Amino acid sequence: MDMDQSIINGFQHLQLTKEEEESISISTTGRSDLLEECALSLFGRLLADRHQNMRALKSTLRSAWKMGSDLRIVDVGKNILQFKFNSKYQMEWVERNGPWNFDNNLLLLCRWKKGLSVNNILFTHSPFWIQIWGLPFESMSEEVGRDLGSKIGEYIETDKRSWLSEQAKFMRIRVDLPINKPLRRGGNIIDSDGEKYWVSFKYERLPCFCFYCGILGHDEKHCTMFLSNSEAPRQYGDWLRANGSPKFGSEKVRKFNSNGVEERKDEGSGEHQTPSTSIPTDMEAKRAGPSASPDFSNS
Ligand SMILES: [Zn+2]
Repeated sequence: MDMDQSIINGFQHLQLTKEEEESISISTTGRSDLLEECALSLFGRLLADRHQNMRALKSTLRSAWKMGSDLRIVDVGKNILQFKFNSKYQMEWVERNGPWNFDNNLLLLCRWKKGLSVNNILFTHSPFWIQIWGLPFESMSEEVGRDLGSKIGEYIETDKRSWLSEQAKFMRIRVDLPINKPLRRGGNIIDSDGEKYWVSFKYERLPCFCFYCGILGHDEKHCTMFLSNSEAPRQYGDWLRANGSPKFGSEKVRKFNSNGVEERKDEGSGEHQTPSTSIPTDMEAKRAGPSASPDFSNS
């Protein structure tokens, strides 16, 4: 528990004076501007068990997102940053192109909703591209992607471009993963004929996670479960990391015009943009140690 929370909890034991008990009506004047600003905001916090250099995080995000003065970053306390965008397009671009890693730690993001405050904000999920390996050929469909994704977390989409490309070793699905659960390594699927198959999962741009308990945000040196039983074989490992995502289209140079809309530099397939290796999302990959996927490094 941090200090702010203990202060809030402390108030529950205080006997309030009559004046303190009285509710204070608050004004909604001038709120429409604030509402608009909030609606164009994302809130972010690093999933890390150690202290983070917020200044370095801010400047790295600025250079990775390349939005210049359109992007305002406000420290709202408790290691939470508010990202104020100029347009919905910019905000959605950041969401769509995640996950974003800083120093091998996952940047958790969530949208604003009414009543959200630094005291009640919860980061529960983070979107990932997951590769499904070992699917029967006749099952590589969007519907199967949905079936699998909705069991792993909250299904977002199936990458339909994999069917157009020259590789189909796996299927890609985008899923909002619950961050408090062990990463799922695979699953038994059963088709309508009752045939059972094991499919395995690999995660693209996986940040720091624990090889002992499989949960994101710490390594086994900082695992509370690890200390109790350190002789057991590791159930998780680097093999859960996808070795980069398949390359689609050409390198993109990103630039936002004055309306906050991205100016498209590539005239490739005209497909919508998905995370690609050309975007340096594993920020500070040079410091991230041997487990960082080299495909995403900036160098
Ligand atoms: Zn652990």
